[in-house]
Amino acid sequence: MGRSFKRLERVLELEVQQGYQNKAVVGGIRQFAAFWVGQAHTEAVDEADRALVEQVAEVLNDYARLPGKEARAKAIDALLQSLQRRQARLQTAPTAVAAPPQAPAKTPPRQDPPKPVSPSPQAEAAPDAAPAPPGPPERVEKARAVEAELEPEPEVELDLELEPDPVGLTQPITKLKGIGPKAAQKLRKLGATTIADLLYLFPRRYDDYTLMKPINKLQYGEQVTIIGTIWQTRARRTRANQVIIQSIINDGAGSVQATWFNQPWLADKLTAGMQIVLSGKVEQYLGRPVFNSPEWEPLDLEPLRTRRIVPVYPLTEGLNSLKMRSLMKAAVDEWAPRAPDPLPDSVRARQKLYALPRALQQIHFPDSQQSLHAARRRIIFDELFLLQLGMQGQRHSWQAQPGQPLSVAPGSLDPFYAGLPYQLTGAQQRVISEILVDLARDVPMNRLLQGDVGAGKTVIAAAAMFAAAQAGAQAALMAPTEILAEQHYQGLSGLLAPLGLTVCLLTGSTPASEKERIYAGLADGGLQIAIGTHALIQEAVTFKDLALAVIDEQHRFGVDQRGALRQKGPQTAAGPTSPHLLVMSATPIPRTLALSMYGDLDFSVLNEMPPGRQEIKTRWLRSSERERAYRFVREQAKAGRQAYIIFPLVEESDKIDAKAAVDEFEVLQKEVFPELKLGLVHGRLKSDEKEAAMRAFYSGETHVLVATSVIEVGVDVPNSTVMLIEGANRFGLAQLHQFRGRVGRGQHQSYCILIADEGTADAEERLMALEQTNDGFQLAEKDLELRGPGEFFGRRQSGLPELQLASLMDMEMLQTAQKEAAALFAADPMLQDAAHQLLRQRVAAFWQAAGDFS
Ligand code: ADP
Ligand code: MG
Repeated sequence: MGRSFKRLERVLELEVQQGYQNKAVVGGIRQFAAFWVGQAHTEAVDEADRALVEQVAEVLNDYARLPGKEARAKAIDALLQSLQRRQARLQTAPTAVAAPPQAPAKTPPRQDPPKPVSPSPQAEAAPDAAPAPPGPPERVEKARAVEAELEPEPEVELDLELEPDPVGLTQPITKLKGIGPKAAQKLRKLGATTIADLLYLFPRRYDDYTLMKPINKLQYGEQVTIIGTIWQTRARRTRANQVIIQSIINDGAGSVQATWFNQPWLADKLTAGMQIVLSGKVEQYLGRPVFNSPEWEPLDLEPLRTRRIVPVYPLTEGLNSLKMRSLMKAAVDEWAPRAPDPLPDSVRARQKLYALPRALQQIHFPDSQQSLHAARRRIIFDELFLLQLGMQGQRHSWQAQPGQPLSVAPGSLDPFYAGLPYQLTGAQQRVISEILVDLARDVPMNRLLQGDVGAGKTVIAAAAMFAAAQAGAQAALMAPTEILAEQHYQGLSGLLAPLGLTVCLLTGSTPASEKERIYAGLADGGLQIAIGTHALIQEAVTFKDLALAVIDEQHRFGVDQRGALRQKGPQTAAGPTSPHLLVMSATPIPRTLALSMYGDLDFSVLNEMPPGRQEIKTRWLRSSERERAYRFVREQAKAGRQAYIIFPLVEESDKIDAKAAVDEFEVLQKEVFPELKLGLVHGRLKSDEKEAAMRAFYSGETHVLVATSVIEVGVDVPNSTVMLIEGANRFGLAQLHQFRGRVGRGQHQSYCILIADEGTADAEERLMALEQTNDGFQLAEKDLELRGPGEFFGRRQSGLPELQLASLMDMEMLQTAQKEAAALFAADPMLQDAAHQLLRQRVAAFWQAAGDFS
């Protein structure tokens, strides 16, 4: 029962997590609401539920139209609160669930005159004898004034003089009083196994009772929360045989009447003298403020007396908010003071950060908005600091071992330049000289080359590898897919072999005998240039003198794979060395993100396209217009050009996917393009089959290449002029831009046709953005805006640890953390100082899930 309410809660929480982009459900929140309302109505247990369903319907219907994050956040928050109240209501009113509203056993008979229910001494007393409200109005006012300022609080240390107990914190949560195996199991669902985990299970929001209004300040039409005491409650029936419950609530400043319809059991709940939190819209009745069907819950006195800002935790089946709050309170009281603080005092003092025990305590049970802010600031700093320390560590470990200085005499690249079929652009020349400077140093290069699709990165890699070979050393290039590696091999050996260099290709499907030959050649130096996939970093591969490693499409590789490549540097008499590293990314990254994601790398940006590139004309067509697209492909083929037709992944399964591709291919070949020759490439093909298909396309033997996304990166067939993408709404912006970059590589005008029907607002925005610009950097900014930083690269792809509170967009904090991390590393590289051991452990733990930290 109530599954739809649970589902709603999950959807809303997801929406919050995703930054209110209306993306928590496919098709948008509004569509979800339409479907949800019907189901929720069948599950509604009482009138309040039905009212809630209507409220949800109304809010969600308008959700997409809400003007901004803030408005959306507010709307969702209100719904989440209502859902929580519902839960509280059902927990405190089991009879209500059992007995539907038609059985008002306890309501007075219709002819009875209205009479007070459960009169109590207070209820009968005059208004001025009312019990004192929990928060006198002046104090409420004062708290609100303070909240507006949010000045950094003066450094007053709490009395938290307990000894740190790092070992104690690793104990399982069952060691805590009040947490048995059952509760522990539920907490584990929320991610908490140890006491330390529990301390880091932060509230997902806070109810700030300091923002409440005294009753005499209520204004008509506003949505407010009040706290007061019930003076009296009475039940009566209307002529339409409706049961009406009316309570008078007083908070010492004034009284207000609240009315509920058809919830007879409330008569027993809302007893006089009870303290209550009530929230709803202030309406006017006979010139006085009233509430109609407001949300309510009994005042939870304990947290309110001591704390006026109450944490709201993520909940799970069978752990209600009261229980959660009280067990967190116990855990925080006992253990937050014992949390050892890994942050050096100097950093903490300079950045005016709370000590960890205090931050942990205040983030759970804040004394004020300022202390909450300060606590969050500390925790966010920690995350970014650990992130940056990890990056410093990676850079340091790449550079801890010396690199091989490769001196490149002026003019020694001339033969290479002479062999090129074109002139390098200014940007290409600039980047090559940046790289040559790096190569000449004994500190290993650690450089990221960013350039839009088709900007001409490959030739830069070729120049660098040529330079390495000229200096008598070896170079390797690693690509994420076999197709791409093969293509690089063809292109690069075409450039380098005529200059007398020995080039080999090593992938997973290289035949064993060939592998043996390559292993031997790399080990004895007979082979100078190795191009391949992950196969290059297998243990069996050793190089005689690997001085330069290039990684193409680097976002496809993890940190650990970079690490493995580093191990391939040669042992010299002085010890191991690291190769120079050049990573290339064809997915332009907005500057803001680049800083945080690749803070460990130097940057080169290829900001100029080779001359003569035409704008790729991009059109978004509906599926009903597909025939037009096919006709266009036919015309282009007749003119001697070639085309790609891309299908999206149907399932997360290669098998189903491959089958879909095969089916589509057959239809296209037999029915749509019988006069053309089509080729097919998909993920399940054996690599020789793939290669044969690619070869046929390179050579122009096939006119149209039908493919799943395996084609996405790198492929270069200058004669192809049409990129037709089916189901374009199912691809991300970066990926679509990549696909598009496969055409427009020769002198012919090229086209990109996106086929998709109207879908979510986001998908439409992506498609429109593609129609509007060919600039990958602009698209990257757009992508970031649409998806948020967490989604920008899949987490696994980014190789970054997960951030709980911090955001990579928090630039100011990020830069502060970066500065402090760099300073700390300068003073104590690799954190070897005894005082930094705890910090070192934290960095390692933080990065563990993401990759290596060595
Ligand atoms: P990407 O940066 O996407 O890896 P590539 O290196 O594959 O781009 O280059 C795209 C195409 O541009 C290739 O066909 C390449 O030969 C060509 N190219 C690269 N540099 C130039 C240049 N300076 N002038 C003309 N064509 C170039
Ligand atoms: Mg490339």
